[in-house]
This record gives sequence, structure tokens and C-alpha cells, in this order.
Amino acid sequence: MATEEFLTHGREVLAWVAAYLAGNGEHPLVPQAPPGALIHALPTNPPLEPEPFSSILDDFRTLVVPHSTHWTSSRFMGYFGLGPCAVSLLGWMLAEVLNPPRMLHSTSPVATELEVVTLDWLRQLVGLPHPLFGMIHTNSRVDLALIAALEALGIESSTRGFAGRGLPQLRYYASTEAHVSVEKAGIMVGFGREGLRKVGVDGAFRMDVVELERAIQEDLAEGIRPVAVVATVGTTSTTSVDPVAQIADVCERYGLWLHVDSAYAGLFAIDPQMRWVLDGCERADSLTTNPHKPLFMPFNCSVFWTRKPELLKSALSVSSAYLHQSHRGEDGPPDLNDYTDKLPHKFPALPLWMVLRYFGQQGIIAIHREHRRLAQLAAHWISESPAFELLAPPTGLPVLCFRAHPLGVDGEAQLRALNESLLRSLLAGGRYFLSDTQLKGRYALRIAIGNIRTTETEVLGVWEELQARLPAALAASQGEREGGGR
Ligand code: PLP
Repeated sequence: MATEEFLTHGREVLAWVAAYLAGNGEHPLVPQAPPGALIHALPTNPPLEPEPFSSILDDFRTLVVPHSTHWTSSRFMGYFGLGPCAVSLLGWMLAEVLNPPRMLHSTSPVATELEVVTLDWLRQLVGLPHPLFGMIHTNSRVDLALIAALEALGIESSTRGFAGRGLPQLRYYASTEAHVSVEKAGIMVGFGREGLRKVGVDGAFRMDVVELERAIQEDLAEGIRPVAVVATVGTTSTTSVDPVAQIADVCERYGLWLHVDSAYAGLFAIDPQMRWVLDGCERADSLTTNPHKPLFMPFNCSVFWTRKPELLKSALSVSSAYLHQSHRGEDGPPDLNDYTDKLPHKFPALPLWMVLRYFGQQGIIAIHREHRRLAQLAAHWISESPAFELLAPPTGLPVLCFRAHPLGVDGEAQLRALNESLLRSLLAGGRYFLSDTQLKGRYALRIAIGNIRTTETEVLGVWEELQARLPAALAASQGEREGGGR
């Protein structure tokens, strides 16, 4: 593409992005066409002749956009209500232009060195102690190789792990509220599904540490080898925070690895008022947290920190004829390739570095506090309403679990049908997006305020729309039950 043409189309693309981020153009938040519609709308044969960029961009507008679920919208308040900020998007564009892989320090020093500095800033911002080795992870093709290897091992190994091959059963522990990635990771490395023992939670959905210790003792008595505990700081459903300091005590008593999954909540510790979320985490052997959640980065920006990087290096460092590892000694910048199963090609440190500089600690705190204020406000509306109720105690993080529970509607099955119907109706309306979850067998709706563009207007908007749709959802769910009962 010639420079002039690049400038013309670049301006056009940027104008579209700016209008989209500003919320101009009323896209329904979920596709209105049935599943598979885009596949049918696109040609089955690949393009053989060149096409003008303007017609590709037209198809982006008329085909790609309407078939999207608009996670970036300020009216999207499902899951964690994520959404990239403008700075991170500009940063990514510049990163992709330089396109420096982080495989080795020498493959492009800036990619490694900017990451070393940026992650040390982040470590200081959340108050974790030095030294801590950190690395940003983005997805790569190696995931596919791992999945292929798993297939080769067969189903038996995914149930019992290496124990299915006559080796001792290893066990790791996480609460019933831990994220599915914890279970998947165990399957991938050969613990097997039976390698994970799920520990119950208290009334606020935090890991029950007494039950954890009892489980470890039972396993030891049966000849099973406990290896690790995964504590969650900000669980996926309710954002509950496990008692990490007490879990660390247990890990120390039994010599277990402590990993903290603080994917969602860890970075809220940037605000001194929220430092408590990482209490005890300074004792973790490793900790993950996701800037693509509360730091307004696009997906696939996850930080992995460990106090024992030498273990990772000894497990994963591989030399080859074509990638010459450097020998700069202990204090030189690392070859990040040595600390991951991936081939780290992307340059995520650049947009993250730009985001940290653009907002600064004070700017991030201001946005987080506003999001938390909005969640508090919504919690107040819900608990004051005769027709709705909270289903988990608010944690102070901007996510709420709740449901409609009007007078006279009782019984879990009835409430589930009503709330499922209410969510379906809300999503079909296309204006707002919420998600759902299960809490100890109860069906819950979730509202998450995390998008940098979400304001009180959107939160009030979704609350009013839920109330307005409730009578019809009630009638529909009752109709379904009566229809089903005949
Ligand atoms: N851990 C927790 C507690 C989560 O809530 C999530 C996602 O919601 C993850 C891990 C995985 O995060 P991601 O797939 O966005 O990297």
C-alpha cells in the first residue's frame, strides 16, 4: 500500500474507531442474525484477484460489525465489563508496527527491557515485594501443540493424569469458585482431572481453610502427594477474595507451592484503599494478574510473577542452532523465551507502558473509585427494591451478583426460569449486556462495571430496563412452566 493510500485509509479507519468508542452508531450489543449467518453471507471461495481496501472496509462495517458482540461498548456490563482504552489501542498499533519478538533479548532488546521496567512499575504500584520475576503472556500457537499432546496422551490421562500411567497421584487444591483455567492447566500438565481437589467456601464464597487442611491430611493418609494450592483473589462469579495469608500458613506447614490467581482483582491494589486484596500475596510462590481486566488493555495481556524464576528457566529453557541464547550473567536482561512454554512474539509492554504513563497511578485510582462507586450505587438500588435481591455480599469490587425475586415467586426452579427469561429479554433488546452465573446452585445475574467509558447513565439505564422488562419476563417464565407442565 502506497504511503498516500495508507494515510487516506488510516484516517478513515481511525475515524471509524473514534466514532465507535464514542458510542456513535447504535449497534445492538449482540448479533441480531441467527448463528451461522455470517458464514452464509461470506463467499465460500478465497479471493483470487486484489480488491480495493475501501470495499474490504465496507464489508467490515456491514458484515463484521453487525455480527459482533460489542464487548467494547460502555453498555456492555457482562463478565468483568472489560474494554480497551484508546491509549492501549494506539499503543498496540505502534507495537505491531515495530513487531519485535521477545524470544531472546537479542531478537529486539526493547521488547524485553521495556517489559522489565513496566512490570517493575506495576509491582511497585500494587505493593508486592522485590525481587519478583515478571513476564507478560499473550496467546501463541504453542497452546495448540499442548492440546495436541494432550490428545496423544488420551482420555485416561486427562482423568487421572500421570497416575493413570502408574505414577503416584499428585494433588493440587483450589476452591469451588476457582476459574476453569485452574482445572485446565492441571489437565494440560498431567495432574489429570482427579489431580484437582475442590475445597468448599464460606458464606462469602472464600476458600474454607479448615477444609483445605483437612483435605490435605486425608490425601496424605491415602498416599496421595499434595503439591500446590491455588488461591483466588477476585473469583470469577462474585469477586470474593480467598484468605491468602491463612492459605500461605497451610502451604508452609505442608511444603506446598502457593499460586495466587488474581486475574481480576490483583490490580485494584494500585489504589491504597484496595491494597487489602493482596494481603498475604507477598508470600505466594507465583501470582498472575490481568491488565486486560482493570487496566483497560485489550485481551491477552496477562502478567505472571514468580519468586522462583530459576525453576521455570530450568524447566523450559531450550537452546537451538538458530536462536543463540545470550550469556549476560545473572544481572543482565533475561531471554524471556526461557520462562515460558510460548514463543513470545508480541510486544505487549509498549501499550501497557503507555497506559501506565497516560493515566498514572492517580488516574487509574480515580477510574477504579468511580467504578466502585457505581457498583455501590447499583447494590443500593437492588437491595432497596422489593423485586430484586443481592445474591452475594458486595466485596467492594465493581461486580454484583443478584436476581429478580418478586413477591410470590419462590422456589429455585421458578426463580431460575424467571431470571433466565429476564436475561434473554434484556439481551434480545440489544441495548445492554449482562452475564449470569451459578452460586451454590442458585442462578444469578451479574453486573460488572469495568469499561472505562461506562458511566452512571449506563448503569442506571440497565437497571431501569431490567425493571421495565420484569413483568413480561415473569409472564413468559410462568407461561413456559405451565406449557411445560401440560
Ligand atoms: N482467573 C480468574 C479468576 C478469572 O476470572 C479469569 C477470567 O475471567 C481467568 C483466570 C482467565 O482470564 P483470561 O482468560 O481473561 O486470561
